[in-house]
Amino acid sequence: MSTQKPPPARSTSAPTRLPLSFIEKLPKTDLHVHLDGSLRVETILDLARRDGIELPADDADGLRRAMHLGENCGSLVEYLKAFDVTLRVMQTADSLTRIAYELAEDAARENVRYMEVRYAPMLHTRKGLKLTSVIEAVLEGLRAAQKDHGIEANIIVCGIRNISAESSLEMAELAVAYKNRGVVGFDLAGAEYDHPAKHHRAAFQLVRDNNINTTIHAGEAYGPESIAQALHVCGAHRIGHGCRLREDGDLLHYVNDHRITLECCPSSNVQTGAIKDLKSHPIRLYADLGLRVTVNTDNRLITDTTVSKELWLCHTEMGFSLKDLKQLIIAGFKSSFLPFHVKQEYLRQASQELQHFHDDGTFEEPSASASHKQARPTEAREPTPKPTAVAS
Ligand SMILES: [Zn+2]
Repeated sequence: MSTQKPPPARSTSAPTRLPLSFIEKLPKTDLHVHLDGSLRVETILDLARRDGIELPADDADGLRRAMHLGENCGSLVEYLKAFDVTLRVMQTADSLTRIAYELAEDAARENVRYMEVRYAPMLHTRKGLKLTSVIEAVLEGLRAAQKDHGIEANIIVCGIRNISAESSLEMAELAVAYKNRGVVGFDLAGAEYDHPAKHHRAAFQLVRDNNINTTIHAGEAYGPESIAQALHVCGAHRIGHGCRLREDGDLLHYVNDHRITLECCPSSNVQTGAIKDLKSHPIRLYADLGLRVTVNTDNRLITDTTVSKELWLCHTEMGFSLKDLKQLIIAGFKSSFLPFHVKQEYLRQASQELQHFHDDGTFEEPSASASHKQARPTEAREPTPKPTAVAS
């Protein structure tokens, strides 16, 4: 007599509203997450106490209120003010290592398997840290988290629109120096209005000449012209946000035809005022039109979110079914800045695992042999070249 259990019966009634805990079990990516917007509140307080740094409040609740965490800010410029606080405690190598480790640990706890963490290293040199140390410190934290929790994470170096073209070029040089050593891409962040990407063209030319992947925040606080410029002047491979792409049908079709990924961050878009509310977020339209859309956090702390929460909001507020959520997740694995053969392995595994999750909220635990920790052949990868000279 067989001891095997029969498979669970599938429901044929109306779709179940899936709980957040179910979404947390799905394998995921986070391709758009800022290091300086994704700290633990307790860590900010702890580092500030240790290093004698002044904060707007000295307890967790007070700090949450002072930084308007998770609240609507009305504009991107207002939203960016919270970073003034986080950057104060991110000026030493050990604090950067700890913050990177904790971010990866938090992501691993909700089954994020692969993450691309972005930040602008020049914002972390106030106390004299060299740019190379700013990269090395974060890599150390990410690698330690990979060892402990199995999550793989790489870095995207950011230039900042509202600083200068020269500093973006310096960041591009840094990205080139660390290509194949943990840096997988280059981005342009910061205030979009009045600061067009074309001013930073030289930085993008340098990274493109070195075959480095690029993504650009665009169509968040400015119109579709900003997205066109990111794609056609700077050569972006992915677009951060792209909320206003829907205003230009022709460009939307171009993005769709070329399978250019949109890194959507729904809650953040509401918080910055880019979108009125979740129900009017264009991610639903983009997904229906077949665009390659991914769901990301942007800033775990400042937006008070997780990838699971963002996916859950897509489900509860925008009517995404489990099948739709799986498609968003697969798009995340497809859109990573990883070598193609590594990406294929992630895709194969994620697709397989996702089959075990059902519309009625049931799932089968994966067998031990399918554990992602065992299936990631990171150690077997080709050796990577040493970094070239870099400005410090
Ligand atoms: Zn962002």
